[in-house]
Amino acid sequence: MGQIVNYRCGACDSSFSWMSGSGTFTKMAHCGTCGAAHAWPLHGGRSKKQVTKTQKCSCGGTVRLDAKVRCPSCKATDVIAGSDSAQWE
Ligand SMILES: [Zn+2]
Ligand SMILES: [Zn+2]
Repeated sequence: MGQIVNYRCGACDSSFSWMSGSGTFTKMAHCGTCGAAHAWPLHGGRSKKQVTKTQKCSCGGTVRLDAKVRCPSCKATDVIAGSDSAQWE
């Protein structure tokens, strides 16, 4: 199960939610450049093989599973996690 956490940007003060973790069929990955969320398919439920396929974002950046939480408005990584969180599958 994945998590959705609400963040507030320390730079521009906008609020946004950030999905992370993995659901039933996908993991949530993010662009390392712009922070856009991308679904990362989980292949081969029976095999333990890691997915090494690289995804590209429409901005030209590389989609990473370990991308930093980034403000979608100003792209700052200076963000504060809120207390609210939800879960997704
Ligand atoms: Zn911001
Ligand atoms: Zn991007």
